[in-house]
Order: sequence, then C-alpha cells, then structure tokens
Amino acid sequence: MISYFMPVKFYFGKNALVDHGDELKQFGKKAMVVTGRSSAKLSGALDELITVFEENNQEYMVFDKIRENPYLSTVHEGAERLEEFGADFVIGIGGGSPIDAAKAISAIAKNNLQNDQIYKAKKYIKDAYPIIAIPTTSGTGTEVTPYSVITDKKADKKAGFGSPHIFPKISFVDPKYTLSLPYKVTKDTAIDALSHLLEGIYSQNRNVVNCPIIKRGIKLIIDNLPLCLNDLKKYSVRENLMLASTYGGMVIAQSGTTVQHSIGYPLTSQYEISHGLANGLVMKQIMEKFYPILKEDLDDLFDYLEMNKEDFYEWLESLNLNAGVNIGDWFVEEKPAEVLKSRNMALNPVEISAEDIKIIYKTLQ
Ligand code: NAP
Ligand code: FE
Repeated sequence: MISYFMPVKFYFGKNALVDHGDELKQFGKKAMVVTGRSSAKLSGALDELITVFEENNQEYMVFDKIRENPYLSTVHEGAERLEEFGADFVIGIGGGSPIDAAKAISAIAKNNLQNDQIYKAKKYIKDAYPIIAIPTTSGTGTEVTPYSVITDKKADKKAGFGSPHIFPKISFVDPKYTLSLPYKVTKDTAIDALSHLLEGIYSQNRNVVNCPIIKRGIKLIIDNLPLCLNDLKKYSVRENLMLASTYGGMVIAQSGTTVQHSIGYPLTSQYEISHGLANGLVMKQIMEKFYPILKEDLDDLFDYLEMNKEDFYEWLESLNLNAGVNIGDWFVEEKPAEVLKSRNMALNPVEISAEDIKIIYKTLQ
C-alpha cells in the first residue's frame, strides 16, 4: 500500500507571487511576515509582497529577528508579537531559517505552547495559523515539508519537529529570488537538497512515488550546481536548482531524514558549520556505510546519472567542501550519544552505532 500526502499548493516560476498574490486574501486581513536580517529585501521578495498587500488591502507587520538556525527563545518572542498584532496568518520569507521560524511561531501562538513543548509536536500541536512560504534559497525544501528545525540554546540542542498542521497552505517558489545568493550559500544549500534526495533512497520510509523525482532532482543538481557556481546570475540554472530543492522537500515530507542529517546538527550548533555543508562533509562516508545494503537502488541511480559511485565521489570532491574548523577530540567522544538520540535515526536502513558515528567524525579531523 502506498500513501502520499502533500497538501501544499505551490506556484513555481518567475513572478509566482505577483501573479498569484490575490490568493492571500482568503487568509484574512492581517499578516505577520517573518524574515532574517536582509535577504527578504535583497532578494526582492519583500517588496513584491508589500505590493501584493497593498493590492489586497491587507495589513502587515515584519518580524525580522530570525538568524541562521533560529532559537527557541526568538520564536517564542515572535509568537507574542503575533498575538499583540492579532495576525490572521504568518508568512516566512527567506531560507529555511525564517520559514521554519514562521512555522514554529504559528504553532506556538495557536496552541499557546510553553518552553520546549514544541518538540513534542504530536502531543501539543493541534492546529496552527495558516503558514505561507516564500523561499529565497534553494536547499531546504521547507516550503513543502511539515518540519521545522529550531535550536534550543538553553539545552544546547538543535532539533526538528514535525506536524501535518505546519505544512504551508501556499508556497510561492520564484527562482529569481535566489539570484542574489552568494557563492557559499548557493553551494551549501544545494548540498542540503542533494542530501534530502539521497535520503529518499536511504530512508526506511522510502516512498516509491518519489523514485523518478529523486533521480531527476539529483541529476539537476549534478548538472547545474557547477554551472551556477561559475555564473551565479544565470536564471535558467537557478530555476533548475530551485526545482531540485522543492523535489527534495517533497521527498523528505514523505520519507523523513536519516543519520545523514542527524550527524550534521552537532557540527552546526557547536561549530556554526552551515546546515548544507555539515551534510556534505559526511555524504561520502554515509553513502559508503549504506551502499552494501542499498547497492541495487544506488546502482540504479548511478545508471540514470550515467556515472558510477567513484565518479559521484569525484564530483563531490570537486566542490572542495571543507569544515574550516578544528573538530575537537572531546566532540568526537561526546557527540555520538546526542546523534543516537535524534529521531531521524529510526529511519536508517542499517543500525548505526556510536562507534560508527565516532569514526565518521574522526574523518573530519
Ligand atoms: P538560512 O539559514 O535560512 O540562510 C543562510 C544565509 O543565507 C543567511 O545569512 C541569509 O540571510 C542568507 N540568504 C537567504 N536567502 C538569500 C538571498 N536570496 N540572497 C542573499 N542571501 C540570502 O539557510 P538555509 O540553508 O536555507 O536554511 C537552513 C535551516 O533550515 C537550518 O536550520 C536547517 O536545519 C533547516 N532545514 C529545514 C528543513 C525543513 O524541512 N524544515 C529541511 C532542511 C533544513 P538573512 O539572515 O538576511 O536571511
Ligand atoms: Fe536539510
């Protein structure tokens, strides 16, 4: 039996928001817009959204306090601001950080969540304010997922939660917003999308409906990322990377993520290694670990890509992914226990031990 649940209406393409912004009218009179420091403006998305609000005769407030890997304390503050303003719906503009924050703010405010209850989503999230997503990076695919990743600084933990209530109602996916992305964010976010697509093969919750999407998405990244890194301003190439990213979101919305993601979270919270880069640094090691058991599926993928596993590793190598920090011995010793506790570990195709994780971390030293 196959089941497939993807309740997000999305518009994909140039001027998606301008052409379909009137759809926002159905969500009410007042919108809370959640953004990072500058990308909402830099990408052009915020200005287009403001024009839409004017045409729709809607009021809005901007909450621009979201930083990379958003804090639990910040999304609680956002939820208070939502209530003060009396917003009817929440719009996240940006990379994964502001969009995930918009999801969290919406759930916290609607369910009056306290402290870290948000991580126990099944128990506490019963509803949410309507969420609209406007991505400006092509990596997380959060515009089509029921997940949000929030860092609890007090508990020193970065962790995700998932609830069908936080699927965006509508996503406006316009690749032109990614034209302002710098080189490093372009590369790292594309690697995040590649991880999501590969994890659609690794996950025990693999969904066969996604098989063609996974192959096509990975090919789009392999072919287009190097072109994009040579010419950051080429629209058609940006469009291909954005499509691959949305594919990746559709894949993890069904299949979840695996150790490929869990192992990266401590690298991000401890050393501020970007999410996508953290995934990329261990991509080969994880593939090596899973290859024996998934040989048939991975070889099928490589046939489609017209390359073999070694060619894929060579492509990965050509990206020169580098941690750029010294990973401490204490980290290698202590962090595997945290990784093992992560929820995505349940979806690995083979048992992964603390020792396996230690060995992988050691390769980064
Ligand atoms: P991000 O943390 O949202 O943004 C990274 C940087 O890129 C920020 O400095 C941001 O600036 C900048 N930026 C964004 N769009 C830009 C643009 N168009 N032009 C110029 N600069 C731009 O990065 P992300 O990789 O998209 O998101 C990562 C987060 O998403 C992590 O917390 C990760 O765990 C999470 N994630 C979530 C899911 C999910 O399904 N929910 C899946 C995978 C990952 P500003 O500060 O100005 O915005
Ligand atoms: Fe990710």
